[in-house]
Amino acid sequence: MNDDLADCVLRALPDFDSLSSVILVSRQIYDVFNRHPVSIVRSVAYNKIGPSLPQALRLARHKKDQYDPVNWPPEAEVMNVPITVQERHIIARNAHIVSQLEDLFSWSHKNQFSTTSVLSNEESKRFHRAMYRFWLFADAFRPEYDDWDGETETFDGPKNSFFQQLPDKTELYEFVRIVQFLTETVRWVGAATGEVFNELAGNAMHMADEMGFALSGGPRVILQMFKDKSGAPLLAITDPWETDSLPADFTFIKTSLSDVFQARNLKRPDWNSHEMKKTILDEYEQYTRPCHLCAKTGDRLWSASNWPFLKGYAPPLTFARSMKGNLTLNRHETNGLQQYLQRPTLCYASFMDWMFDNKDTSGQYRDLTRDDWICQECLQTFVNSKLHLWWLERQRAEGMPVRTEDCWYGYNCRTQRYYTHAMKLNHLCAPTRGDPA
Ligand SMILES: [Zn+2]
Ligand SMILES: [Zn+2]
Repeated sequence: MNDDLADCVLRALPDFDSLSSVILVSRQIYDVFNRHPVSIVRSVAYNKIGPSLPQALRLARHKKDQYDPVNWPPEAEVMNVPITVQERHIIARNAHIVSQLEDLFSWSHKNQFSTTSVLSNEESKRFHRAMYRFWLFADAFRPEYDDWDGETETFDGPKNSFFQQLPDKTELYEFVRIVQFLTETVRWVGAATGEVFNELAGNAMHMADEMGFALSGGPRVILQMFKDKSGAPLLAITDPWETDSLPADFTFIKTSLSDVFQARNLKRPDWNSHEMKKTILDEYEQYTRPCHLCAKTGDRLWSASNWPFLKGYAPPLTFARSMKGNLTLNRHETNGLQQYLQRPTLCYASFMDWMFDNKDTSGQYRDLTRDDWICQECLQTFVNSKLHLWWLERQRAEGMPVRTEDCWYGYNCRTQRYYTHAMKLNHLCAPTRGDPA
């Protein structure tokens, strides 16, 4: 291989791991690399990260004690400084997180039938650029919660300078779209776990902005919360409910964004509008495919391929409150079921699998398979028909105390609203006598 060809090959490598291995293949390749190490590393970084490399690099270079964006290297200049080995590791690790978030964004807003990203290059560029910018915002302005003494810097000035570096209206809306997407992801976790992240409504300042606290964790923590179906990764930063470290007037990003919108005379985004749905995407999911069971269009559809995402959409609370007959009156069973479903280890995929393994083989579900796309309403009706049996089976499998004697009226019993009766007889069964008193 001549040197020019070796140089081209090095520049075309997709990531730093390949670069590290290839330069050790021969002395000649090693020498070729050492003639232009800076530009070869930059080319490989570009291959790995794409056009959002300046934003990715700026994030990787940010130091926690540099509060004021005025002192950060501008995006347009950040590429002029060679990329260090340590920065290579950071940008590779961050890119992995951003690409998983892109998969989730693509599934939830672009194409509900694919759980890996189908964003175009242009859409992906906007997504990454804005995600790295928000990540930098979170890293730079996340308060030192545990040292909060009520007087701690709220970074109003630096936050303002941050947005001044985003003069373009379109790119500002892209940034806000990312904040919105991460907010949705935190809400998903909240629904799946039964934890609440209070959000500031309007200008209400009477309660701490818990959603702001969650957002301050940044993309890495929010993705981890989603993957773990748990608030634990966030509480690793601090537990504001234990330490009182979140003052009532705390707001992380919402107030700063309102100020920017006001200062620039821009309207607040309506995320349901066509215009705002197209902030990052050129084409977004329109939900035109009909439900396999009821033929309705306009809703997100579910099949085995996206059951792992179901938990935040059809939360444990909803299932627990829709068990068959009068079981909804039975607090012992509904609370128990809700808490059981909220366990982070409880994956809806296995829960749904059981529903299909145990479905009625006659009637409307006879031909329904795991791969058929059904709307949430139909899915809930399907699950509710067997949910009490699944719950009884799970309690037995987990060694929880179950009542051995069935109530005659089964799930239709009205007396099960009383604790003593609910604790005495099993109601997770069909009635053997009609009309309960
Ligand atoms: Zn349906
Ligand atoms: Zn009863």
